[in-house]
This record gives sequence, structure tokens and C-alpha cells, in this order.
Amino acid sequence: MRKIKRIFVHCTAARQTQTLNDLLAEFKRKGWKNPGYHYVVFPNGVIQQLASEDVVANGVYGYNKESIHVAYVGGIDNQGKAIDNRTPEQKEKLLSVLKLLKKRYPAAEILGHRDISPDNNNNGIVDPWERIKECPCFDAKVEYRTLNQPES
Ligand SMILES: [Zn+2]
Repeated sequence: MRKIKRIFVHCTAARQTQTLNDLLAEFKRKGWKNPGYHYVVFPNGVIQQLASEDVVANGVYGYNKESIHVAYVGGIDNQGKAIDNRTPEQKEKLLSVLKLLKKRYPAAEILGHRDISPDNNNNGIVDPWERIKECPCFDAKVEYRTLNQPES
């Protein structure tokens, strides 16, 4: 198994009607061999695993080797603006996935995609859906801080 340092939280930056096939098609368009996330949580609370945890996913350029990526479907409104539109089911299931992962990788830190700085030397195009300042459209470090705190 890989050494996991970070558990990244993402939004898919799509309408909440986005299906698994839509998402997989998007990865394909980007030319990615592996999916962007290990787990995706849909608005109805269904959790889909897209990759085994020992596989490197494409969530955050430069960080993927030591990361697990978890995303919820949504994160933009009808105008395409960033919004935290998680359903209660998504919030609940996100938390349960993160709890499980944290138990499996106690040394890993849970954080949002936007919590890391971009690699400014990378001249690749930043897709709007991966704007680092917005994804996952809520403050994951604050919301999951009790999970990150070491057990006392
Ligand atoms: Zn992201």
C-alpha cells in the first residue's frame, strides 16, 4: 500500500444531476488513465468507488502519489458559480467515508483541494472546475477538524 499523507476533499464542480458516466467521460476527455477521485458521493447519498486506494488518482497535480481523493457531485449553481450545495445525505456520507479513511490512515490530514497552493511553475491550463480557490466550495479543514485532531 502507498503511504498516504493527505485525504483531499473535492467537489466535481458540476450540476448535481451529473451521473457517474458523465464524470467518467470527463476524465476520459482530459486524457486521464486513472479517475480523478477514489470515492464520489452522489446527492442521494450513494457512494461510488472509482479506484482502489492503492491506485494513484488524478485529484491534485503534484500531490497524488501520497493522497486519497474524495469528491461530492455538485459544487456549482445554475450560473456555474461555486456553491456548497451538498445535500444532507452527501454531508453524512462524506463524513462517514472520511472517518473510515482516517481510521485506515491515521497519519493523513483531511483537507480541501483549495487548501493547497497551486504549482506556479506548471504551465498547464487550470480548468475552471478545478480552480484551487473554490474546490470543494466549503472549508473542509474547519468542518473536519475533529477528525484531524489526534486522539487524546
Ligand atoms: Zn478539486
